Amino acid sequence: MGSPIAAELSNALSHTEHLISDLQTSSGRNPGRLIVLTGPSGVGKGTLLKALLQRHPELKLSISATTRSPRTGEVDGVNYYFITRQQFDLMVSENEFIEWAEFANNCYGTPKRSVEEQLAAGEWVVLEIELEGARQVRQSFPEAIRIFILPPSIQELESRIRGRGQDSDDAIDRRLQRAKAEIDAANEFDVQIINDEFNEALDRLEQTVFLATVVG
Ligand code: ADP
Ligand code: 5GP
Repeated sequence: MGSPIAAELSNALSHTEHLISDLQTSSGRNPGRLIVLTGPSGVGKGTLLKALLQRHPELKLSISATTRSPRTGEVDGVNYYFITRQQFDLMVSENEFIEWAEFANNCYGTPKRSVEEQLAAGEWVVLEIELEGARQVRQSFPEAIRIFILPPSIQELESRIRGRGQDSDDAIDRRLQRAKAEIDAANEFDVQIINDEFNEALDRLEQTVFLATVVG
């Protein structure tokens, strides 16, 4: 603090930030970013994202609407907007979702308005969604960064879903069936990250989000 070199560096940094901002404005590019995180249920997406958001509170996590019932501890408007099938169908018919899909007998969708407003304001918005929805987003937002989280093995995936202790045996079976199909599609994504050792996966996720932003 206070040294001439520090002052020079700080000036140079501020100048560079202005240049980047001018470039973005003059090229008409929206500085907002859409980041899509996909991977089989139970792989650890939610846990990874929670940790990423602790490191980077400036990232915005989109809150989806779902017809699924809340799990213990889940809060309406925080984890999801928990709505009825009738409300969901109405939102679909009024084109209020960026994407939506059916998953394990329930419907899930990303509300359009809040995401569009955040992107327009230059925010970086993260969607945590399943495969069908990620494919739809690829059509409507081809510039989105799309990341797939893989388990170290199917056995480990099953043990994480069971260990979470939140799903019935039926729901677990449906999730595992779906997981196999999802894992087969991992190569459709820009980046694949294996969530084996948690902190390693978290570091890779962080690097991917921020490196892709600098390069892309
Ligand atoms: P998802 O959001 O993909 O459905 P969760 O984040 O709910 O998955 O994680 C499922 C379970 O796996 C949770 O109990 C979580 O604590 C655990 N888990 C997450 N990442 C790891 C990891 N790297 N190693 C072991 N367990 C993990
Ligand atoms: P869960 O019931 O475990 O919370 O979520 C089941 C699956 O639905 C997960 O793979 C999760 O990523 C996905 N999901 C959550 N919200 C959305 C959404 O808005 N759209 C889509 N397509 N999938 C979602």
